[in-house]
Amino acid sequence: MINQLQEKYQQSLLLLLSSVASMGIFPFVVMRYLRGDVSGAIIDVLLILGITSLVAYGYFCKKVRLVSAIIAIFINIGVVVVVVANGVDSFLWIYPVLASTFVLIKPLEALFINVVVGTSLLFLADIFDTVSVLSYVVTILMLSISTFVYASHSAKQFDLLEKLNTVDPLTGALNRRAMNSDMNAALANAERNGIEQLLAILDLDYFKAVNDKYGHAVGDQVLQDFVAIITSHIRQYDRLYRFGGEEFVLLISGGSEQQQAFIHNLKAAIKNTLKTPDGDEITVSFGVAAWVPGTTADTWLQRADDALYLAKANGRDCAVFNND
Ligand code: GH3
Ligand code: MG
Ligand code: MG
Repeated sequence: MINQLQEKYQQSLLLLLSSVASMGIFPFVVMRYLRGDVSGAIIDVLLILGITSLVAYGYFCKKVRLVSAIIAIFINIGVVVVVVANGVDSFLWIYPVLASTFVLIKPLEALFINVVVGTSLLFLADIFDTVSVLSYVVTILMLSISTFVYASHSAKQFDLLEKLNTVDPLTGALNRRAMNSDMNAALANAERNGIEQLLAILDLDYFKAVNDKYGHAVGDQVLQDFVAIITSHIRQYDRLYRFGGEEFVLLISGGSEQQQAFIHNLKAAIKNTLKTPDGDEITVSFGVAAWVPGTTADTWLQRADDALYLAKANGRDCAVFNND
């Protein structure tokens, strides 16, 4: 599941930053026009239009990261050019540009750009008759390091938040929230590109009996072992979700013939490895439904659930494929 919280946060920051930049540049349009500097005013208007259309593209085409990176590079090259051309008059722009780079891209990348821009201005800009080199170096370092620390801390908090939001705390499998979001993405992808996908509901057989015989803590350990076995068998782009209790959902991509063999191997692997403390095997029933055109999240789950019902009725420890 993509980092959705961070994506949304990045989206709102991009909107905020572009509004602030446009509002910040606009007075210069008026000022330059009133002074008779029409070409300067036109350049500023083009800047506002450029930023606004880039942000609109990122927002509507869901390319927020790409647009953020382009804007970060653009404003940093821009500030070097402007400070080299205008000298000390444009000097103060360095600070907001270096700080906002951390809002646009990853902390380490932003720190790297800060170092490159800060150092190149040291050599290229003709401002150090007026500005003390020491003050310049110290203030830029303070700004870059403190913003880097803050941005790194914030990125870590986001990762943690994303994990709390999408991962089942007992088993480490993805949770239902992640499943709903990934299923919608998988359905959109399948409709658009015709990519074959398979959804399987896995339900541990007679799990209540395991709890009753060995206690809830052992039951919990079995659920964790079960997830570990599946995780070690699925491929990088396959996903396992805890649907609820001892039911899990597996979302796998690829042609159904190959996947049928995979499901059977997985079932065998669980049967061979998942054991009670007495060494008795614990089996799993699979209800599997391949994606077909027109599938919705609800019909997909329902078809898999119907197949699971049949698997249970057939005596459990088997996989039923719903090909309707
Ligand atoms: P079936 O083969 O028909 O699926 O039988 P079952 O016993 O697995 O199914 P049933 O729905 O009767 O029982 C599911 C059990 O799963 C009951 C519940 O206590 C247990 N369970 C659900 N969530 C957890 C959990 O987080 N930890 C533990 N230890 N047990 C859980
Ligand atoms: Mg069960
Ligand atoms: Mg169940």
